Amino acid sequence: EPPPGCPPDVEQLGRATWTFLHTTAAYYPEKPNPTQRANMLMLLRSIPVLYPCTWCADDFGKDIEKNAPDVSGRTALSRWLCERHNEVNQKLGKEKFDCAKVDERWKDGPPDGRCD
Ligand code: FAD
Repeated sequence: EPPPGCPPDVEQLGRATWTFLHTTAAYYPEKPNPTQRANMLMLLRSIPVLYPCTWCADDFGKDIEKNAPDVSGRTALSRWLCERHNEVNQKLGKEKFDCAKVDERWKDGPPDGRCD
């Protein structure tokens, strides 16, 4: 891991990006208006074009071609994104995340209140 103040490596950038994406999905409206939908679609479609890890960007682009983003509402979007992250987890030999727990992880925190 690079010392503090150094440019991020692929792992750090990945953690920061997943944090941003899952948190943004967790707070996306359940009933988004057309502007919100269009911007979310653009945000997601920008990743394959701009994400500064080329092989990450290319594979993510292929994945979202097969599995079109579901921007219809927060529950569907959070699930869709969880599944895309699981595709990357699988590729990297990481454990699969239980997508039933996506709100607990990124929005509500655990029931024991230790994150409150
Ligand atoms: P991360 O995978 O960064 O996850 C962070 C936290 O999110 C976890 O601790 C867990 O609490 C939670 N989490 C895990 N899975 C899920 C899920 N399915 N849904 C919701 N929350 C979850 N790295 C490469 O080496 N090669 C690649 O090709 C590659 N492609 C990437 C593509 C994208 C679009 C992004 C954003 C990142 C990519 N990365 C890639 C980085 C990689 O996914 C990880 O971020 C990095 O390896 C650090 O992993 P980590 O174990 O710290 O946890």
